[in-house]
Amino acid sequence: MNNSAIERLVIVGGGTAGWMTAASLASHFSKTPMAITLVESSAIGTIGVGEATIPSIRRFYGALGLKDAEVLKRTQATAKLAIQFDGWRESGHSFFHPFGVYGQDVRQVGFHHYWLRMHREGLAGDIGDYSLAVALAQSGKFTPPAPNPPTPLSVFDWALHFDASLFAALMKDTALSLGVEAVDARIDSVRCREPDGFISELVLDSGKVVAGDLFIDCSGFRGLLIEGALQTGFDDWGEWLHCDRAVALQSELDDPEVLPPYTRSIAHSAGWQWKIPLQHRQGNGYVYSSQFISDDEALATLRENVAGAPRTEPNIIPFRPGRRRQAWRKNCIAVGLAAGFLEPLESTSIALIETAIDKIKLLFPDKNCVAPLVDEFNDMTALEYERVRDFIILHYKLNGRSEPFWQRCRDSAVPDTLQHKMDLFRERGHLVKYRWEIFQNASWVALYMGLGLLPARYDPATEYFDTDYLKKAFAQMRQSLGEAAAAAPAHAAFLAQEGIRT
Ligand SMILES: Cc1cc2nc3c(=O)[nH]c(=O)nc-3n(C[C@H](O)[C@H](O)[C@H](O)COP(=O)(O)OP(=O)(O)OC[C@H]3O[C@@H](n4cnc5c(N)ncnc54)[C@H](O)[C@@H]3O)c2cc1C
Repeated sequence: MNNSAIERLVIVGGGTAGWMTAASLASHFSKTPMAITLVESSAIGTIGVGEATIPSIRRFYGALGLKDAEVLKRTQATAKLAIQFDGWRESGHSFFHPFGVYGQDVRQVGFHHYWLRMHREGLAGDIGDYSLAVALAQSGKFTPPAPNPPTPLSVFDWALHFDASLFAALMKDTALSLGVEAVDARIDSVRCREPDGFISELVLDSGKVVAGDLFIDCSGFRGLLIEGALQTGFDDWGEWLHCDRAVALQSELDDPEVLPPYTRSIAHSAGWQWKIPLQHRQGNGYVYSSQFISDDEALATLRENVAGAPRTEPNIIPFRPGRRRQAWRKNCIAVGLAAGFLEPLESTSIALIETAIDKIKLLFPDKNCVAPLVDEFNDMTALEYERVRDFIILHYKLNGRSEPFWQRCRDSAVPDTLQHKMDLFRERGHLVKYRWEIFQNASWVALYMGLGLLPARYDPATEYFDTDYLKKAFAQMRQSLGEAAAAAPAHAAFLAQEGIRT
């Protein structure tokens, strides 16, 4: 090891971001002499939300040697195959965004082109009728995908709904078992050294000082190091993302015998409500714009739309959509809410924690934190956030509701990157994929089609097949998906069978 190798890595914050980072870096660097210390304050606590994930979470904990069944059990989790969007296009309309493909691409032509042609001829059902993940979700069934799917039609993925505090506890246990040192104290001040302004020490309320070579800021919205000490600046995306508050409330399950294997996202007058089923309780929240509705009105709407008895007092959480101008500055890297937050839609925040950790591993510096590494990290992070931002804006832009909040969302200009994507899809169903996209083509198709943005033209190459052939192929797909869903166990039964839910 050279003299300038990082010897002391200090993580600030013990929420989901802090403990995921600690566990993953401790595992990755287990054979190095680098010491990892995490400072958290149980008196301050964590944000206590963040319970829906996307499938990459399973790869994340898998790399730590954790198995699905174990994580599901320890975190009271359920499976998530999709998000159901209710009332976004218009009142009474509903569609799924599944973690999986639609139909089969044939002869280098995307399935959605064939679907569009058949739809125009009145010969296709809803596009969701050609997705196994949707078929399972609609019937409340769950089974993991076959390891070697018999056809591309059987390909789908799944994620988890988990208890955020139990998941952070699992990550903490993993990190501690890998030698991470935990300190429970409040950080009172941050010392920077001369002349380069690098962070050198944290001063705790006990008077103790924690010194480090590299600091990971997982202190949540406050960004204690990245903003408090280093004044990095924040790009506010409020012109595009109008929601700026949420009220969260845990309740009893609507029906403990029926666990939907999907998140629900229900549009209301000034935002949307999440419903996240766990094994033992339900997470609920209303994400809204304070310009269009008061906290009291939002809470009243949420209460009206939660069937189970409340288990907690409502928690009102203000947020500012946007991101730190630099996620990495000097010897400090921000991860989690300290780096930025868009909003809860599509559960992207924990996924962005995972990608930040991946990049830290990829570009791990020495004590000098030289500019090329910092710049590369910041460029990649900026692109990742912007891609996710565009995907989220799309949901609002294409809404078909009439309330003033929704009209504002529809009328707001969108970033050029998103406009370009929408134009190409609208013109001939072309899907633009930029670097550092977290969401794949099928997700964009789900949203375009679900919200009613249908292309003007489909690919003329679909004419290779005559209509009768396609009609039969479409009917066969529906039949085989229906049969696969019928053969799968109900989600609640699956969790019981596997000994996950007792
Ligand atoms: C309403 C809402 C809903 C969300 N839903 C989802 C979702 O469904 N899916 C998803 O992926 N994400 C979601 N998120 C985001 C998700 O909650 C976060 O990404 C995740 O919880 C990580 O938070 P964190 O660890 O960065 O911050 P926090 O949980 O806030 O943790 C901050 C840590 O820093 C410590 N700390 C702060 N100051 C000090 C100090 N002075 N001294 C010592 N310690 C300190 C705190 O004690 C705490 O341990 C949601 C967010 C919001 C606001």
